[in-house]
Amino acid sequence: MSDTGLTVRTRVAPSPTGDPHVGTAYVALFNLAFARRHGGRFVLRIEDTDQARSTAASEAAIVASLRWAGIDWDEGPDIGGAHGPYRQSERVAQYREHAERLVAQGDAFRCFCSPERLDALRRAQRERGENPGYDGHCLGLSEEERQRRLTAGESSVIRLRVPREGACRVEDRLRGMIEIPWAQVDMQVLVKSDGFPTYHLAVVVDDHLMDITHVLRGEEWIGSLPKHALLYRCLGWDMPEHAHLPLLRNPDRSKLSKRRNPTSLGYFRDVGYLPEALLNYLGLMGWSMPDGREIFSLDEMVEAFDLDRVATGGPVFDLEKLDWLNGQYLRGLSAEAFADRVAAWGLRRDRFLQLVPLVQSRTERLIDLAPQVDYLLGERPSLTAEHFAHRTLEEADCRRVLHHVLRVLDEMPEVTGDALLARCRALAGGMDLKIRDFLFPLFVAVSGRPVALPLFDSVAFLGRDLARARIRSALEALGGVSKKEGKRFDRAFEALPGGPADGGPD
Ligand code: GLU
Repeated sequence: MSDTGLTVRTRVAPSPTGDPHVGTAYVALFNLAFARRHGGRFVLRIEDTDQARSTAASEAAIVASLRWAGIDWDEGPDIGGAHGPYRQSERVAQYREHAERLVAQGDAFRCFCSPERLDALRRAQRERGENPGYDGHCLGLSEEERQRRLTAGESSVIRLRVPREGACRVEDRLRGMIEIPWAQVDMQVLVKSDGFPTYHLAVVVDDHLMDITHVLRGEEWIGSLPKHALLYRCLGWDMPEHAHLPLLRNPDRSKLSKRRNPTSLGYFRDVGYLPEALLNYLGLMGWSMPDGREIFSLDEMVEAFDLDRVATGGPVFDLEKLDWLNGQYLRGLSAEAFADRVAAWGLRRDRFLQLVPLVQSRTERLIDLAPQVDYLLGERPSLTAEHFAHRTLEEADCRRVLHHVLRVLDEMPEVTGDALLARCRALAGGMDLKIRDFLFPLFVAVSGRPVALPLFDSVAFLGRDLARARIRSALEALGGVSKKEGKRFDRAFEALPGGPADGGPD
């Protein structure tokens, strides 16, 4: 029970637009711990209102990897519950109804402005040094004009009417009173021209209808709080308590980003972190046991959890510390349990059978097997720029090839050897490189040597998360891709055959 006597209900609400992110598991863990601590319920909701970017494959991967990590929910799209459906694309009628109500009350309005007008407006505002935002143009339309344009089938959106005077004051459970002047809050689109809601409308309607009592979410949403507070007020609803959790950071304090680090939960599974060690580590992000103990189980965390002890200074997600913690867990296992974990991780007969076609014809004595597969079953050697010394390719060429292949892998949810080969051939052709030369940096990045078992089968065996992590670390060994170079590579990639137009989602 919460302080107000209501049953505590929390939720995690990922958008299925990419790989399952470690930050989702972190936010889920804190919501889970808080709900369990108070005898409440924890909900998984899938926020798939961005129809262009949401995929069923991403949703399935998020569900599977949260479960792998040991996160369990009481209600969700896969198990149902009394407040369903739990997928926003199945709740569109609810959002429309509430949007219409807001329009009827005068709290929201139809806007017919074209993208061109809005672009020009933003440009002019930027030139004047103002914050870009909607100028209220369509607020002045007469009722007849509105009706005429609607009947004529003109495309329109619904926007929230935001006051221009005064400031919004909202309490954040961790940060205290937050005050943001209304003038800084844009007249947010609530319903897009395709009839789908934006996040802002959907999140408020759902949190209310799903009886969510506490919203624990990432600090990147603080700026949206005034819009949400206004929506609660206009709809006449009590606002759940909000707590914005600190974002995970790299040791250099920059935001954890997939461009630079492994952030996909699949990576943590594939390199052999134990889920309970990963959860334990995430539990140390901004929170600590009252007695300062660093090793604790989920149950122990739940028992001791106190939201008010979450520190808001960006916690550092440090892989070295995670390695140490994982080692502690591994050492604590019995010999039997250790062997079971190793088998569950990947040293199983069925997995080894995938390697047989690659090694059988290359093996004369069984003892020669291990050196052939070492980089597939274990980590590859660490690299330096010398590993990439090549007859014709410069270091920058190697970086470019690796950058392009990384982009291809980012866009390929399931890696198959054939699909990857086809993309690489097209890219090599477009770059005027022999396929053999194109593949050289990739061989080195993946296996640590210029010659190894067939490359595409190796990548397929490793899986995309591990392959991408190796390519990223190879790019670091080659001095890293600067912002400027990255932009140049991106432009070049987009223009190439084998680039996004040839198979990517864009
Ligand atoms: N769909 C949002 C996200 O992906 C959820 C934000 C929230 O928890 O309100 O982060």
